[in-house]
Amino acid sequence: MTKAFGASSPTSKLAQTEIKRRDLKEHDVQIEILFCGICHSDLHQVRNEWKDFMPTTYPCVPGHEIVGKVTKVGSAVKKYKVGEIVAVGCMVDSDGTCPQCKSGDEHLCSKMVLTYNGPDKHSGGVTYGGYSESIVVEERFVLKVPTNLDLAGVAPLLCAGITTYSPLKEFGVTKGKKVGIVGLGGLGHMGVKFAHAMGAHVVVFTTSEGKKDDALKLGANEVVVSKNPEEMKKHLNSFDFILDTVSANHDLNTYLNLLAPHGTLTLVGAPPTALPVASFSLIMGRRKLTGSNIGGIRETQEMLDFCGKHNITADVEVIPIQKVNEAYERLVKSDVKYRFAIDMASLK
Ligand SMILES: [Zn+2]
Ligand SMILES: [Zn+2]
Repeated sequence: MTKAFGASSPTSKLAQTEIKRRDLKEHDVQIEILFCGICHSDLHQVRNEWKDFMPTTYPCVPGHEIVGKVTKVGSAVKKYKVGEIVAVGCMVDSDGTCPQCKSGDEHLCSKMVLTYNGPDKHSGGVTYGGYSESIVVEERFVLKVPTNLDLAGVAPLLCAGITTYSPLKEFGVTKGKKVGIVGLGGLGHMGVKFAHAMGAHVVVFTTSEGKKDDALKLGANEVVVSKNPEEMKKHLNSFDFILDTVSANHDLNTYLNLLAPHGTLTLVGAPPTALPVASFSLIMGRRKLTGSNIGGIRETQEMLDFCGKHNITADVEVIPIQKVNEAYERLVKSDVKYRFAIDMASLK
């Protein structure tokens, strides 16, 4: 049996438990987990807050920002060797045959299986995530980690990292582009680092004056306090791309109106209720409003390699697993810079 931390109901705290990992099949990699990031969606699913479209099966062992060391490989595994440092993100399976899978968009496959709280074809039950000692994952969903990076800071790249990297790439953020990042939390701080490393002119939008210095340190060229209409007005019709990471309700039109003609605003946060969009915000300037969620395996590897090259990791606060419930309470209050990473050695 494998030690893990999980919840037994929507209202119970996370507590130590035991789960069973499958015996290795020929394409499987067994990984000893060293660090696992805490994503806001862990909290939503542990508490069954997404019950309408993604009901949680209990016990729920969350965690999809996994970094670890290969401890065993199946007979047909080619890419990985025992002892290598690897990572696993938000998904562990897909059909591999549909047009999305064939074009490298496994995350858009209708048969994509989430790393936790997904249907596990091997056990017939549900998948268990990274708040555990080890995990067994098919080779094609395992990623290589550049050797120069701090491993605790690598963990959040597997969700917060790819979620922000992918739309920046998709919409052509390069040197000389003007890019806005709305919100400076787990996702936003990665967006700033990536856009800066891609050579863009980065403007951070925040509601709190107190975040100005931090935003500049992370790589922003300018910081705008979004509550100040005069400051906002200065940027009308000027952005090539805006990444909106805010998960609370807010006025989208204000940001759409900051886009230059043909500009794109991509949502990666998930506010609880629908946000109104004025047609004119899009019609004028032929602007685009899109959404995005993680990325495919090939692009996730590209993101990790980019991080290795530019020495990018997430800013993390490392905690022992015994503090996970406390961390969840702090996460609700956005009281972390900018992501928690669990040191899984604490579970031993
Ligand atoms: Zn996540
Ligand atoms: Zn597929």
